[in-house]
Amino acid sequence: MTKNHPSLRKAASNADLYANPSPPQQLRHSHSTLARSHTTAALPRRSLADWDKRPQMGEKGRARHSYAAPYPNLIEDDEDFRPNRQQQSPPPVPPKILEEVPVPAPILEFRDGEYRLPACKITSKPVPSHPWLPAQLPPVPVRREKVKADPGRYTKPFTDFMTANPTVFHAVDAVAKDLEQDGYNKLSERDAWDLKAGGKYYVDRNGTSLIAFAIGDNYKAGNGAAIVAGHIDALTAKLKPISKLRNKAGYLQLGVAPYAGALNDTWWDRDLGIGGRVLVKEHGKIVTKLVKLDWPIARIPTLAPHFGAAANGPFNRETQMVPIVGLDNSDFNGLNASTGRALECEGEWKASPLGGEGAFAATQPERLVKAISSELGITDYSTIVNWELELFDVQPATTGGLDREFIFAGRIDDKLCSWAAIQALLNSDASLSTSSQIRVVALFDDEEVGSLLRQGARGNFLPSVVERIVEEFAESKVKNSLARTYANSFLVSSDVIHAVNPNFLNAYLENHSPRLNIGPAVSADSNAHMTTDAVSTAILQRCVDADAGTRKQDPKLQVFQIRNDSRSGGTVGPMLSAATGIRAIDCGIPQLSMHSIRATTGSQDPGLGVFAFQSFLERFEEVDKEFK
Ligand SMILES: [Zn+2]
Repeated sequence: MTKNHPSLRKAASNADLYANPSPPQQLRHSHSTLARSHTTAALPRRSLADWDKRPQMGEKGRARHSYAAPYPNLIEDDEDFRPNRQQQSPPPVPPKILEEVPVPAPILEFRDGEYRLPACKITSKPVPSHPWLPAQLPPVPVRREKVKADPGRYTKPFTDFMTANPTVFHAVDAVAKDLEQDGYNKLSERDAWDLKAGGKYYVDRNGTSLIAFAIGDNYKAGNGAAIVAGHIDALTAKLKPISKLRNKAGYLQLGVAPYAGALNDTWWDRDLGIGGRVLVKEHGKIVTKLVKLDWPIARIPTLAPHFGAAANGPFNRETQMVPIVGLDNSDFNGLNASTGRALECEGEWKASPLGGEGAFAATQPERLVKAISSELGITDYSTIVNWELELFDVQPATTGGLDREFIFAGRIDDKLCSWAAIQALLNSDASLSTSSQIRVVALFDDEEVGSLLRQGARGNFLPSVVERIVEEFAESKVKNSLARTYANSFLVSSDVIHAVNPNFLNAYLENHSPRLNIGPAVSADSNAHMTTDAVSTAILQRCVDADAGTRKQDPKLQVFQIRNDSRSGGTVGPMLSAATGIRAIDCGIPQLSMHSIRATTGSQDPGLGVFAFQSFLERFEEVDKEFK
């Protein structure tokens, strides 16, 4: 989600902090006819034992939001995590989360010339989510018996994903590998596509944004798409093109620039690693390699308060927040202490000898080039064509609180919703055979900086993918089919939402203050920074209600709206729905400390997000018939 305006903080500091907001209000339709029914939400995808057998991953992660704030453009923040040095390029792949199934493997039946899973047998009638709600929606067919899914099953896989994938490059790569493991086929925008009904595909752009889609067995051109879209970038500090700086007073420093709202006050005195992608010339080709140096390499030191006014902000992010990455006292001549020259000691800038004159490596800190090369097995520095590296907090994501009811992590905004959406898509495999729609999860880069680049949501990535799908299936009148597809589709714009902070209650709006471990929150804004309206809220609520009672904990949709004296953040929702005409809602998972380098969400919230998104992906087709 996007950042809130500073006025929020002002309101909090000046307001009555003892006035508690009312308990979160759940969205409910008094005349809802949705019923509890069978879904694949609880279907096991992979056993926990399998999960435990996976290699230990380094930890990384990153998230961000955009804040619509008072600015015309969105502002984004990042959070960082630590990766594992043992896992380099490719990075560890976060496994798809599978529910435990205390159910014996199904006995295959020989039908239609081959062994098949037994036909679905619904053993119990769908039960209404509430006694007064009649059961009308038909159950989504499932292939196996299901047990009630526990949202807690998703906690550790989520924290592992966050720790192992600290940069946008690692996160997208990990998602791609998880999709491939589930049978998704990789597509390239540069090639012709050969799509089939029942097929599952994904395509990335720039290695920093990704769209995954599954085509229902009964899909026809013009049918709708159920889309969950979010952003997978996060606030960070990126290395400048020439990151080698002059040494100052014996310190080796690194030239970095903030991405979105990074290098804010939360970046002082943190243990920072370095990661990203490196372009290397190999056998006449330029290949991309991902790299993580996940030990504390860099640090931005505070000035002790003893220095008085000099220690008080605001601070200059160009001159006073330059990370230190090493020591070089080779210029120390013993006179500095008495003459004070140490304070002026600043060596001449000169290119590194690595890679030879004119080489990219020569413009970067020599010891950093060596460290990166060591990780990637590069012996000829001149083969490094270029790189995009960034800083990230190496502290692993972890659970916390007396009963581990929190998750503390960097980059939650918005790898949280992105990760949950992918898990939901993977979980929905079993019901694809009865679907007549397309299911899409789109993860965009650059949301925190306005989404304007080609891999951002304002680019043509999503429309281009949808158009190519429709074109593949349309026998004639492609434009007509495309227009109908958009009109029959629905978009859940999923970005993290501000959870209520008990120390700043008056910064929040009464009855619109989402809590942790309850469920995603629908975010509304009267000035159209969000896409939410009555119809879209009703549609999503109907989808979630349809699976009420089928899990150990139902996700309860909460509501969030910013106070009139604050400004709402922004998401990818308005730009995507405006570009395509697709109906949309903004609904994200709550978190504390948005845009801090270290944020908090609930331990059950990743799983509750998975449940809500899965209900949408699987239920939208039936629910939408009520609105036509
Ligand atoms: Zn966000």
